[in-house]
Amino acid sequence: MVSYPHQRRFWVLAVRCYMFRNLLNKIIYLLLPQRCISCGRFGEIICGECLSRLPRENNPYGAISFYSYGNPTVKKAIWLLKYKGCYSIAKKFAESVYDELIEELSEHLELLNPDKNEKVILIPVPLSKERLRERGYNQAEIFAGELVKINKGVNFEIAIDILEKIKHTPSQVSIKDREERLKNLKGAFRLNPKMKDGIRDRIAILIDDVVTTGTTLGECERVLRRGRPRKIIKVAIAH
Ligand SMILES: [Zn+2]
Repeated sequence: MVSYPHQRRFWVLAVRCYMFRNLLNKIIYLLLPQRCISCGRFGEIICGECLSRLPRENNPYGAISFYSYGNPTVKKAIWLLKYKGCYSIAKKFAESVYDELIEELSEHLELLNPDKNEKVILIPVPLSKERLRERGYNQAEIFAGELVKINKGVNFEIAIDILEKIKHTPSQVSIKDREERLKNLKGAFRLNPKMKDGIRDRIAILIDDVVTTGTTLGECERVLRRGRPRKIIKVAIAH
């Protein structure tokens, strides 16, 4: 089949648009006047009033989590963060849960040795290379990064090279059964062999956007334990 230059140009442009759509989304969100996704008021992606009214839910499956994923606004916010490059959602959530998180962590933070400038390591649940290429960013990493920013790096630091996702798996959201979810994740994560001493004797916080049945955070925790950390704490924005 003969392909004409203008046809080729169209496809090159189409592929480029697809590849950069997250960047485009991000630019769109930066340029457009923001409206609250709950009440529609102009100003912020989610206004303080609506944010403070979101239902809370904590500690399923031994994880610290903050918001109820069953709430339509929370669900929409997570969707915007996860698929639409709307980073300001991560910032809003991080600002709103930060004090509570510090409170929850207080007994562990007291154990940090200030003389050694010891910090808690925030480890976002990694995406596979394929998923990262497809999405362009890791939403858990964006959220963790916002927490470190608010903390000004005083006792938090982020590490994205300790835990790796080496197997591309279908989205956990599409699998309802807990056993099937576990099977889906078998062998999916590993400790980066070059960084295997990276969390030895350290306090690590595993971070995900949503905890559903706890299988992803649980599997990541199991793998991280091989690095012999002092403590692993699991945190998610919503359940
Ligand atoms: Zn609002």
